[in-house]
Amino acid sequence: MIKVVKFGGSSLSNAEQFRKVGEIVRADEKRRYVVPSAPGKRHKNDTKVTDLLYACYAAAEADEEFKPALRKIRARYNEIINGLKLNFSLDDEFKIIEENFCQKKGSDYAASRGEYLNGIIMSRFLGYEFIDAAEVIRFDDEGNFDADTTNSILKERLKKCDRAVIPGFYGAKADGSVKTFSRGGSDITGSIVAKACKADLYENWTDVSGFLIADPRIINDPKGIKVITYRELRELSYMGATVLHEDAIFPVRKEGIPINIKNTNAPEDSGTFIVESTCQKPEYTITGIAGKQGFVAVNIEKDMMNSEIGFGRKVLEAFEENQISFEHTPSGIDTFTVFVHQEEFEGKEQSVLSAIHRLADPDSIDLEADLALVAVVGRGMKSTRGTAGRIFSALAHANVNVRMIDQGSSELNVIIGVSNEDFDKAIKAIYDIFVETRL
Ligand code: ASP
Repeated sequence: MIKVVKFGGSSLSNAEQFRKVGEIVRADEKRRYVVPSAPGKRHKNDTKVTDLLYACYAAAEADEEFKPALRKIRARYNEIINGLKLNFSLDDEFKIIEENFCQKKGSDYAASRGEYLNGIIMSRFLGYEFIDAAEVIRFDDEGNFDADTTNSILKERLKKCDRAVIPGFYGAKADGSVKTFSRGGSDITGSIVAKACKADLYENWTDVSGFLIADPRIINDPKGIKVITYRELRELSYMGATVLHEDAIFPVRKEGIPINIKNTNAPEDSGTFIVESTCQKPEYTITGIAGKQGFVAVNIEKDMMNSEIGFGRKVLEAFEENQISFEHTPSGIDTFTVFVHQEEFEGKEQSVLSAIHRLADPDSIDLEADLALVAVVGRGMKSTRGTAGRIFSALAHANVNVRMIDQGSSELNVIIGVSNEDFDKAIKAIYDIFVETRL
């Protein structure tokens, strides 16, 4: 049995955190492959090493003084090495980095050094072999992740190595130039490694005990989610719930490998399991609630719209012409509404309106701004009668005016539009009815 363990930046921000990680890895011999991030924040006002590296490299690229900033970064690593009483130095590595900064090797190279150096420390600390991600994680010439080549290289490499540390976040193109994933990409590396060694479990260690049913900034001390399916997670993360990089689910999902989100600071908590499917019913009918604010509803009316072929396409073309992606399109008999992000829409408003008039010839268009969308997600809703009824009576009791309802045919989620100012109230009302009163 193999477990791949990925540790986020806050789990590796200093020597003390490293020690916790060491205990976790050593506590279970199945934890054979370790994927570290770069050192994260040690306290609220601290800066992540990745951000320090980006800034330092930007100075190098602009031919400004960057060496003091690089020394600061070196000091952060030295603090960890000394704190762990390890007997080695990264000075030679820093000499190479300095040279490469002078030669302007690129900001991807620069940022990747955060995990590269942390990986070296981790391998020394655990006594595991170090595998440079540049050798095993492959990007194509256009800079897209090459899943097939990576999998065959990595699979062979891991076969030869019982225990290893593989730094997260980066890989390289065939010519050896370093390329990173998008921010938070160590999650993806962990998933790729789990796939390559056909792990039984991918443990993703962070600073929270898994996903919460609702945002703790809105609900005081919300309950955690024990098991969530990949599809539910997709719905919730689309709506803004973030713990895991979105692309991290693809490699493991195909292989049927579950992900367990765990807390380095509370390893005994069971955390959240993310699985392909489960017959375990969620504890509270709904699995989670998430939402986003700042939407505009573009309401388009046209008599006999329901029988006009191609009307929806023409309307959406107006958005496409203006490079605006739409979020939802609830429709009535003679009305068609398009929800878009207010930020994206505002500057292009008049151009979109004239395009709709030109392309679709509507009777009228009316705009409503400052709306929020709340998604109630749960595999349990399908088999439970009255869920929608409960949601709407809770909202009515809380005096929340519902502006839009959209239930996907999968019955996995119900999306409700409310005004921005009712956003928190709506989430509280739904949380209370399902979780607090456990109806
Ligand atoms: N260190 C990188 C970042 O800050 C990648 C990661 O932590 O996953 O985005």
